[in-house]
Amino acid sequence: MESTPIALLKNIFGYDNFRPLQQEIIERTLAGKDSFVLMPTGGGKSMCFQIPALCFDGITIVVSPLISLMKDQVQALRANGIKADFFNSSILPEEEGAVISRAKRGEIKLLYMSPEKLIAVSTTWLRDLNIKLVAIDEAHCVSMWGHDFRPEYTQLKAFRNSLPDVPFMALTATADKSARADIEVQLGLKNARLFISSFDRKNLSIEVRGQVPKKKKLYEIERFAEQKRNESGIIYCLSRKNTEEVAEYLRGHGHSVAFYHAGMSAEEREQVQTAFIHDDTKIIVATIAFGMGIDKSNVRWVIHYNLPKNLEGYYQEIGRAGRDGLPSETRLYYNMSDFVLYSQFADGGANAAMQKDKLSRMLQFAEAKSCRRKILLSYFGEHLTSDCGNCDVCDNPPMHFDGTILAQKALSGVARMKEKEGITMLINVLRGSANAEVHAAGYSQLKTYGVGRDVSYIDWRDYIIQLANQGLIEIMYSEGSALKITPIGWKVLKGDLPVRLTTPVQPEEKNIRKPISMQLSTDAEVDPHVYEELRKLRSAIAREKNVPAYVIFSDKSLKQMSIDLPVTENEFLAISGVGMNKMEQYGDEFMEVIAKFKHVPKPRKSPTILETFDLYKQGLSPEEIAAKRNLQVTTIYSHLSQLYTEGKEVDLEKFVSKDIVEKVRAAFNDLGKNTELKPIFEKLNEQVSYGEIRMSLTLILSGK
Ligand code: ADP
Ligand code: ZN
Repeated sequence: MESTPIALLKNIFGYDNFRPLQQEIIERTLAGKDSFVLMPTGGGKSMCFQIPALCFDGITIVVSPLISLMKDQVQALRANGIKADFFNSSILPEEEGAVISRAKRGEIKLLYMSPEKLIAVSTTWLRDLNIKLVAIDEAHCVSMWGHDFRPEYTQLKAFRNSLPDVPFMALTATADKSARADIEVQLGLKNARLFISSFDRKNLSIEVRGQVPKKKKLYEIERFAEQKRNESGIIYCLSRKNTEEVAEYLRGHGHSVAFYHAGMSAEEREQVQTAFIHDDTKIIVATIAFGMGIDKSNVRWVIHYNLPKNLEGYYQEIGRAGRDGLPSETRLYYNMSDFVLYSQFADGGANAAMQKDKLSRMLQFAEAKSCRRKILLSYFGEHLTSDCGNCDVCDNPPMHFDGTILAQKALSGVARMKEKEGITMLINVLRGSANAEVHAAGYSQLKTYGVGRDVSYIDWRDYIIQLANQGLIEIMYSEGSALKITPIGWKVLKGDLPVRLTTPVQPEEKNIRKPISMQLSTDAEVDPHVYEELRKLRSAIAREKNVPAYVIFSDKSLKQMSIDLPVTENEFLAISGVGMNKMEQYGDEFMEVIAKFKHVPKPRKSPTILETFDLYKQGLSPEEIAAKRNLQVTTIYSHLSQLYTEGKEVDLEKFVSKDIVEKVRAAFNDLGKNTELKPIFEKLNEQVSYGEIRMSLTLILSGK
C-alpha cells in the first residue's frame, strides 16, 4: 500500500483532505523537526502525530495525562487496524510485561503513556526502543501559567534531552502567549514552529438566555432535551445540588440521564462516564469536573445552567459538543444572581481582581447584542470579518431605538431612591407595584412611582442592564447591589445626552433556533429510518466488541451513509471516516442494511433562513414557503425581515400594505418608539399579525 501522508489519510482513516495545517505539521515532523500545535478541541490534533507515526519505521510515544482518554484513542486506532497500546497505572502488572515485549519486538506503532509511567521507565526498557517521535498531548500541563499544572510534566525535559535527534511535538487546545513560551522552555523544544489553527468552531450554534426563572429554565431544558431524544448532551451546573435536581427533573420526564460531580466516589463517576461514552446514558448533568478526560465525538449539545466563571472555561465546555464537525447546539442560561454570587466568591480568593475582570467579560458576552461568535473569538485574539449567522443574536438581530426617555425614567428613579436600592426595587417603583416593601420605604410617594407601568418587568430588567453596560449606572456589588448613577448617567438625566437601547428579544421557545451554515449538508437529506437502523447495527457491534459506538463509525459517517446509501465497496470507501480496515471489518454488514432501503425515496426538510430565501427567490409566497417548510408563517416573515435587514433583495413592501405600515407606525410612535411586538399588537386591538408588525417595523426602522 502507498504510504504517503495523503494516502494514509485516505486508506487508513478514510478522510479525503487534510484540515488546515495538518499537512504542514506532518511534513515538518517527517523532516525531524519540533512543532508546537495549538488547535481547538476537535480540531484534529491527533492526526498530526498519528500519520507520521505510521510513516516512521520505529515507535511513536504519546504522552497524555488523561488515562481514560488513552484507552479510547487506542481503541479507535485499533479499529482502523493500527498497532497501538497504552501503558499507564490502569493496566495490571502482568499486562505490563506483554506491552513491553510487544514494544521491544517492534510491534507497536503508537504507545500512549502517562507522564509518571514514562519517567519511571525512561532509563530502563524505554531507552532500548527505536523511538522516532514523541508527542506531548495536553502540553499546557507543563506550565504553571496554565490552569491544569501537573508536576510530572516538568520532568519530561530530561527525557527530551536524552533524545536530541528525535522530533518532539507539543499539542494543546489552551495556551495564551505567556503559557506558550513557558511550555517551549519547560519541554526543551528546539526551534519549534508554532502552528495555530482557527479556534472558530462553526458547527456550534451559540445561544444565550438571560433572566429565565428556575421553573421555566427546567421546563425549557426538558423541552430542549425532548427535541433531541437519542442524542447525547451535557448540562453544566455550578453546584452539586443543582446537578442532582436537574437530573431528577429530567428523569421524572422519562429522559436517560445521570449526574456527575466531585462528591461521588471514583467508581461511581467512572460508571457514569462509561455509560455516557457508550451511549447508554444520553444526558449528563455535571459540575465542570466532567468532560476533561473524555473524547466523545458525538456530543450534540451542551447547556450551561449557570453563568460560567470566565470565557476560557465556557469555550472549552461548549467545545465538548460537536467534535465530529456535525451541527451541535449550545445554550447558556444566566441570571444576575449568578454574577453577584461569583463576584462575592472572587472577593475573598486569590487573584480577586483578575477573576472579577474575567467574570465581567463573561457577563458582557452574555448580555451582548452583537454577534456572539465575534465577541468570543476576539477575546481569543481572532477577528471575524462578518457576523457568524449561527448565534442567537445573528438569528434575531436586536432593533435599536431612542431610549432616552426610558433611561431618564430609570435614572430618576435611582436618584430619588438616593442610590440605595437595587434593580428589583427600582423596577417595582417604576411599575407602581403595590409591594409592601415599596410602601414601607415610602417610595409610593415618589414622583417616579408608576411612570414605567407600560413596560413589563422583564423588559425593564433588560433595559436597566443595558444602561449598566453602557456605563450609565453602576451596580455596587459591595453594597447589596445598589444602583449608582455615573457621571454619564447624570448627563443623560439632565437631557444632555441621548441613549440608544435595543429591544429585548427572547426567542419564543417554539421558534428555537436551528444551526444554519454547515460543512456537511447535514440532516437535510439524512434518511431517518436508515440512520436509525445503522445506529442499531453500530450499537450491537460496539457492545459485542466492548468499545464505544463511535469507535466503529462516527455519527458523521453514519449520517453520510444514510444520505449516500453506498452499496458497493467503492461507494462505501468514499464515505468520510471509512478506511480499508473498517471497510473489511464492517462493510458487508452495513451495506446489507443500506441495500434494504435503497429504493425508498428520501424526505426533504431543512431549517435554514437561506432556504426561505431560495424559495422566495423562486417566487413562492410566504404562505407557500411556510407550508412547504412546515413552519409558521410568522417565522417566514421574520426570516424575510432579517434577510431584508441584512441587505438581501427582499421586497418586504410587497407583503405588507401601506395602510398597515401606517397603523404600526402610529402605534410605534404612540408607544414612545417601542419596538416590541406585543405592545403594538395589543395597541392595534390584535388586528394586525405579528408577522406584519415585524415587517412594518423593519421598514419603519430602515427609514421607509
Ligand atoms: P483533537 O485531538 O484536536 O481534540 P481529534 O484529533 O480527536 O481532535 O479529531 C477530532 C475528529 O476529527 C476526530 O474524529 C478525527 O478523526 C477527525 N479528523 C481529524 N482529521 C481529519 C481530517 N483531515 N478529515 C476529517 N476528519 C478528521
Ligand atoms: Zn453570530
